[in-house]
Amino acid sequence: MIQELWEQIQNGQEVRQNLSKIRQVIKDNGERRKLSALLEGEETVLIDLLRSEDAKTRKNAALLMGDLRNPSFLAPIWKAYQEDGQRFVKSSYLSAIGNFDYREYMDAIKEQLAALEKEEVTEENQKHLMEEMRKLSFLIVHIEGGSAHKFIGWDKAYDIFLITNRNYRELVGNELMELEPKAKIKLMGAGVMARVTNLNWIKGIRTYQELLFVVRGMETSEMDPDKSIASYALRWVGSHSNVKVILSGMSTMQQVEDNLKTFIDFSPLSDEEENKIKAIVEELRSRVQNGCTGCRYCMPCPAGVNIPGNFQVWNRYHMYRTYDHVKGAWEKELKDEEKAKNCIKCGKCEALCPQKLSIRDNLVQVQKDLDERIFA
Ligand code: SF4
Ligand code: SF4
Repeated sequence: MIQELWEQIQNGQEVRQNLSKIRQVIKDNGERRKLSALLEGEETVLIDLLRSEDAKTRKNAALLMGDLRNPSFLAPIWKAYQEDGQRFVKSSYLSAIGNFDYREYMDAIKEQLAALEKEEVTEENQKHLMEEMRKLSFLIVHIEGGSAHKFIGWDKAYDIFLITNRNYRELVGNELMELEPKAKIKLMGAGVMARVTNLNWIKGIRTYQELLFVVRGMETSEMDPDKSIASYALRWVGSHSNVKVILSGMSTMQQVEDNLKTFIDFSPLSDEEENKIKAIVEELRSRVQNGCTGCRYCMPCPAGVNIPGNFQVWNRYHMYRTYDHVKGAWEKELKDEEKAKNCIKCGKCEALCPQKLSIRDNLVQVQKDLDERIFA
């Protein structure tokens, strides 16, 4: 399948769709290395697609190159990111760049973020501009970590959050706009988010409870912070017309109350919320390394390798991109004798895997990634 799709791409057949399909196949079947082998010596085919006239083809090509993590792709993706005039494609280049060791581009990434921060936010550019800034911020925070906010003076520009009683949000927003007409504000569940040119007006507002400074990398948090993650999950399920009954496991009174709040006055997800969730899902899915379902048909392994256990740690490691997130699972829960390094490559498991995963190759990569800890 993967060979067929790649040949069609090389022949210029349904390129945009096939790029998308091939991404899905390597994600589901863990065949990244197989595709990398097929591509060897033909990398320019993908690089050339970054100059395609079709913006979605450029976008899919960049994402696939990011999935493949071939270091020779990084420079062309960065170049394409800089040159592409279509703003909606930009964040895909940045998603792809996040899969490489992009440290040499850190200065350029910071400069780009600083330049975007000066751009005027309009109704037309807001969505994609914010998305691009969010991705740039994530790239910076991923390498440098978050940093505490420093107060740098009353006359400086800030991204802030004014916490207030939900019923006072509009009042706070209106007062702010009167006192600081250049502010860009957004009403959120717990208050008002704003980008302001100074802080001198703050004493004139009496209805806010707390002023928070937005930490870099968090400034474009898009979901309503007043609502729980579970409420979004349940509203997503309840927004599908074919769902008749929703089951939710609850273990605390707080969870019961939260669920009741969600359903007493149920509102389906808006298109905007649905799109935001889709974007988050796409981002997380793109990080999963193989489609191991944990079915355990491959077990037991004659060499004692806990195959699904290794893949679970590996996928979580890449999904959350932090070693701390899997440290306990990798160092304590998964015994040394169960680790990927013990695989003797007999192939028994691959014949049994319903997902047709390249288990042996993937296990080599698991051990390498967790040993090297690129996301330490
Ligand atoms: S190939 Fe490796 S993981 Fe699979 S059964 Fe053989 S030893 Fe176990
Ligand atoms: S059979 Fe395949 S999908 Fe199932 S646990 Fe093993 S590796 Fe994962």
